[in-house]
Amino acid sequence: MKSIYDMSYKQMEEWCESKGWKKFRTQQIFAWLYKERVYDFDLMTNLSKETREELKKDFTFNPLELVRKQVASDGTTKFLFRTADGALLESVLMIFDYGNSICVSSQVGCNMGCTFCASGLTKKQRDLTSGEMMGQVMHVQAELDKKGERLSHIVVMGTGEPFDNYDNVMNFLFTANHDRGLAIGSRHITISTSGIVPRIKQFADGHYQYNLAISLHAPNDKLRSQIMPIDRAYPLDQLMDAVAYYSKENNRKLTFEYILLKGVNDSAEHAHELARLLRPYTCYVNLIPYNSVDEHGYKPVTRAEAMKFYDILKKEQIQVTIRKEHGSDIDAACGQLRIKELRKEKERKQAKALQIQQDQKSKPSFKAAMVDGTANVYDDAYEANEMPDPDKE
Ligand code: SAH
Ligand code: SF4
Repeated sequence: MKSIYDMSYKQMEEWCESKGWKKFRTQQIFAWLYKERVYDFDLMTNLSKETREELKKDFTFNPLELVRKQVASDGTTKFLFRTADGALLESVLMIFDYGNSICVSSQVGCNMGCTFCASGLTKKQRDLTSGEMMGQVMHVQAELDKKGERLSHIVVMGTGEPFDNYDNVMNFLFTANHDRGLAIGSRHITISTSGIVPRIKQFADGHYQYNLAISLHAPNDKLRSQIMPIDRAYPLDQLMDAVAYYSKENNRKLTFEYILLKGVNDSAEHAHELARLLRPYTCYVNLIPYNSVDEHGYKPVTRAEAMKFYDILKKEQIQVTIRKEHGSDIDAACGQLRIKELRKEKERKQAKALQIQQDQKSKPSFKAAMVDGTANVYDDAYEANEMPDPDKE
């Protein structure tokens, strides 16, 4: 069943019309969803019982269940969610001077396979629906509602490649941005892409006012293709063409993200090469401190090394900032909480398998376990995801 959060304003109007009701009901429904922010159809008290029953027949509410929350000393909060079909995903709430920002996941796992990223450790299981993206936002907003605060910014920078799930992401952002939705200003919304060229052009043609960030991470194809496989499909000349097209169509500054990986892309020569590459474009560079991911073995640079890189770009007249680290005392690298949970799930299932094996030795009724499915312990999301098996390492 669809979540009510899947519905755009227009789709809701059409749904109301299909029931023979006035479009006006949509205004009331959206006000309950995104202004009053109730989480139960029965709390929509200015709707008739009949209307509420019809809504209940066709829609669920938030499609995500909260599994775990981790709060860091700086207030950064990670939320681990489970979808109705059992997939795990995470979102992060970050507290800035300028407001509260949520980092939203757009897919379960990611197929782009960047060699430094926790999300790339698991193949894409599936795209998230727009309702599941809104579900992340509404869970986090519910937390903030307890303090009388509101989410002011959205970044689509969690697990997944948003431009590999283009329609759902845009549908979700449309409601987040809509006056009758969450009314989050378009300039407060950022989409980050690893560089899917045709989608960047499509996005440019849409003339959205959202911010666009491009994960660059290397100033040449030789290095970029080693750490970001997408560079082999869309090398830098094509990517920069798309960037030029976006700038021409939208007259907006875009951001290039550049993670500093010790001994990989952080030399003075890399900084100069990056400046040469970006000089023709109206853009910012955001240098990102690397959050170590156990499985990958890359190391972050020191603050002094980051400053050296920063200074070169500054001298080369490139606008540059260094991203402040958030939640460094929790599993801050996006996707890590999810990976940990997957690992725990696997351990739990292995322990259960062992138990069943022992039971099998002591009593001859293993067949019963096969029938009720409890013996089918290896057929889980973890394997399907092609997670590296810690036991084989
Ligand atoms: N798939 C999109 C959006 C999600 S990743 C993209 O790649 O742009 C969001 C950002 O986090 C990207 O710039 C990505 O390169 C960066 N990132 C991934 N793993 C990281 C890590 N371990 N430490 C710091 N940044 C990381
Ligand atoms: Fe996917 Fe982005 Fe991670 Fe690359 S950095 S694997 S594109 S989530």
